[in-house]
Formats: sequence, structure tokens, C-alpha cells
Amino acid sequence: MSFTTNGLVCGHHHLYSSLARGMPAPPQTPNSFISVLENVWWRLDAVLDLDIIYWSAALGAAEALLNGTTAIIDHHESPFAIEGSLDAIQSACDMVGVSSNLCYGVTDRWVGQSMQTHVAPSSKMSDEARRGLAENERFLKAGGRGMIGVHAAFTCSDETLETAADLAKQHNVGVHIHVAEGPDDIDAGSRLQNLAEDNWLIVHAVHLDQQIKGTLAHNPRSNMNNSVGYARPSRWAHDVILGTDGIGADMLEEMRLAYVRHREDDITASPDSAWSWLQNGEKFFPEVKRDVVTWSYDNADSPWHVAFTPGIRCLSVVRDGRVLVEDGVPTQFDMNEIRTKAAEAARILHERLA
Ligand SMILES: [Zn+2]
Repeated sequence: MSFTTNGLVCGHHHLYSSLARGMPAPPQTPNSFISVLENVWWRLDAVLDLDIIYWSAALGAAEALLNGTTAIIDHHESPFAIEGSLDAIQSACDMVGVSSNLCYGVTDRWVGQSMQTHVAPSSKMSDEARRGLAENERFLKAGGRGMIGVHAAFTCSDETLETAADLAKQHNVGVHIHVAEGPDDIDAGSRLQNLAEDNWLIVHAVHLDQQIKGTLAHNPRSNMNNSVGYARPSRWAHDVILGTDGIGADMLEEMRLAYVRHREDDITASPDSAWSWLQNGEKFFPEVKRDVVTWSYDNADSPWHVAFTPGIRCLSVVRDGRVLVEDGVPTQFDMNEIRTKAAEAARILHERLA
């Protein structure tokens, strides 16, 4: 029984989506997973610029820290602001004081200014994918901590998937990729089977029809929100970690949701599984074991207690002896300034989407 835990890890985030809240309604109400991508996320990522990316990441990282989340694995896409985008996210995370593992998610869905929903596996690698791979490589070569990002198999040619896998090998990192999130990506398993390695991060895998290598990032809230079905992460043969897929980074909340979704599917499920998924994030960021997060609840380290105690608040965060949060308030940055700058960036972003 303790008020404290290690720093928590968000195993799959999209910090660029922090300013999506309050965006204008899409031209048509999405009626499928692919239509959510087309009408919401692929319109949003196309109007990002480096300044918006920075303030969106700063807000997302600050909200993570204030929830005791001290490390974030992020997956970024901004097809018209690729070069330098990972540096912008990195500086926002550094300013806030959270660890980050970043990547740029390459895709062949853009041909110049026009977007295509389906990409033939046999097509040639697009210029946009080439530039995305270059951004990943530039960032890693400069000493950045990250992976090679790929959006998803169904928006990439085989050439792009193979080149991304080779590049990851060269840099001794994994590939961070959405896999079979919806039925549109049903071929992902067979296309990735011979490419995936143990250090890959496989996101979602809801409709994956075969086991492939890699850690699974499970995002229960996002999967429910996108109505894609239950991923059944307990069937995964390798490690499972928990992510939010861009819906904040309150990881105790995500753990509670992971548990109750597991239980809905299997009455014998215990919160110990969801808790182990939460803790597995530490394998990507060993430094969080030295963080001390103090919570408003005296059984914050007990899976069964946490699963049935909504509303546990983070009171303080200490990293490397530095107090980053005290009495629920950040000490190293001005939250009001971040909120003000983020609101201004959101105004510009939403105007572009109107
Ligand atoms: Zn995602």
C-alpha cells in the first residue's frame, strides 16, 4: 500500500492531436473507420505547421506530466510540414520535462496535393514517403531517440514498407506502425510477417489474422471511440503496452478502461493484466523507474484498488531529484502560457478546417 508509483508511460500517442478538441465538425458524419480517417485525422494532419505542432505537443506533454506520465512514445504525421517536425515535438517534450520516443509516420497516400485512400502494394514509393523516411533518419542520426514510423500497411506500397524495415535495421531501432486497426488493413499480417522484428511496435492489431513479431500497443479508449472492435490483447504472444492513440495521456484512467474492457470480454479477467500492460512501458524508458509520482490515494500501486477508484489525482512528480510537479502544479513551466499559446494555435488550426 503506497501513495507513490514510478513515472507512467504512454505507449502510443499522437501529440499533434491535442488541438483537435473543439475542431469544426467534418463535412460529413463519418460512418466507418476509414471515413473517420478521411474526414477527421487526414484533414487535420494536412493543415499542421511547425508552430502548431510545437504548441500541440507542449499542451499534450504538459497534460501527460500533470497525470504522472513522464514518458511518451509518439507517432507523428504532418504531410505538408515534414522536415523538422520531430525536432519541434522533441523541444516541446524537453521543455515540459517528459522523456519521448518519436517517429514520423510515412505513407504513400499523398500524390502531390491529392490524397488516395487505398494504395496498391505494387505501386512505387511516393516522394512524401521518401521525405518522411528522411525525417526519421535525420532525427536518429542527430542523436534523437525514436523509431522508424509507418502510418499503416494499407496506405503504403511494399517498397515503402521494405525500405522502412531496412532503415530501422540500419539504425538498430524498431518500426512503429498501426496494424490492422480496422478491416481496411486486413492484409497487414501477411504483408508484414517477413519484415517485423522483436523491436517493432505494433499498434492496435484489432483485426490482425496472424501473430507477428513485436510489442503490441493496446489503445482501449481509441478502439472503442473508432468502433473497430476489441483487440483481445491477452492473446498476444509478446509484450503488451498501453497507449492512448492521442486521447490524452492519463494512464491510470487508460489502465482502468483496459481492465473493464477486458472484463467485458472475459468474466475471469483480473486488473493484474491491464496493470502489467501499463508497467511494460518501462521497458522502453528504464529511467521512469527512478521517477517518484505521488497520488491522492494510498493504494495507488494496487491494481485491484486502482481499477475501482476513478479520479485518482497526481499530486507531485520528481525526476532525477528535480520536483517537476508540486501540489498538482508544474514548477518548471507556466501552464497558463502553454494553454494561451495552444489556444491561439488551435484557433488558426480550426480556421484552416472550417
Ligand atoms: Zn495511432
